[in-house]
Amino acid sequence: ILKGKTALVTGSTSGIGLGIGLGIATTLAEAGADVLLNGFGDAATALAAVDRHGTKVRHHGADLGQPDQIAAMMDFAAQEFGGVDILVNNAGIQHVAPIDAFPVERWDAVLTLNLSAAFHTIRLALPYMKSRNWGRIVNIASVHGLVASADKSAYVAAKHGLIGLSKTVALETARTGVTCNAICPGWVKTPLVEQQIAARARAQGIAVETAEAALLAEKQPSGAFVTPAQLGALALFLCSDAAAEVRGAAWNMDGGWTAQ
Ligand code: NAD
Repeated sequence: ILKGKTALVTGSTSGIGLGIGLGIATTLAEAGADVLLNGFGDAATALAAVDRHGTKVRHHGADLGQPDQIAAMMDFAAQEFGGVDILVNNAGIQHVAPIDAFPVERWDAVLTLNLSAAFHTIRLALPYMKSRNWGRIVNIASVHGLVASADKSAYVAAKHGLIGLSKTVALETARTGVTCNAICPGWVKTPLVEQQIAARARAQGIAVETAEAALLAEKQPSGAFVTPAQLGALALFLCSDAAAEVRGAAWNMDGGWTAQ
């Protein structure tokens, strides 16, 4: 259903079955989209995973903390693909610390990547989308865009901000064929969360498996992780014609986290 469309998925190099971005990129490629990947680390593995669906796949290694590199990535997308029809703002980082011990440079880094990067990609992608009167912007927020947890001030602030940004863009594009929505995952077992599980195991002197079970029990009533493939399917739905009037939504997929 996405043949002829180009999707840019930021932060999509985290590994097969591991990162949310690569899961979404793979699902969109399976649906026929050409894909521009972005992120650090092992780009070759990510490219190989997506490059199995007969669609065009490229990678750009822009550091999304640098607006000039974001602009270079959008120029690259225009040259290679003509433009970006589907923009998935997925790259994100976490830092866990109480606010009075929160390193100032980590606050800045979390806000820059999790919120400001989406401002830049959206402002640069929109003119092309509007010119085609079709576009899909999917911002990967979090349950932490809807509710808070202690010790995550920067992340919670950035994700609440990202949902606000999504709603604003949805209003500004409401009379066009461009939609903008946010997805709010609960725990997904990615490197970002594995770091938190390892930190909990270290701090409490418990096994990693025990820490993992405790992490889920604390917040996620299902007791199961959400998967990148499930999030890919939701992103694909938001890209479909059926979702043309889903505008400004903050859609949770969280094992019941925010129902409590
Ligand atoms: P991850 O750590 O597995 O992957 C992050 C990706 O972002 C990687 O590809 C990395 O290379 C890239 N990246 C990091 N810094 C970058 C930068 N400066 N410029 C460009 N790319 C950069 O993370 P994940 O768990 O897959 O998270 C993806 C998104 O989903 C994030 O926005 C995260 O906040 C959100 N999220 C994750 C969970 C979860 O439980 N894992 C839950 C809710 C929301």
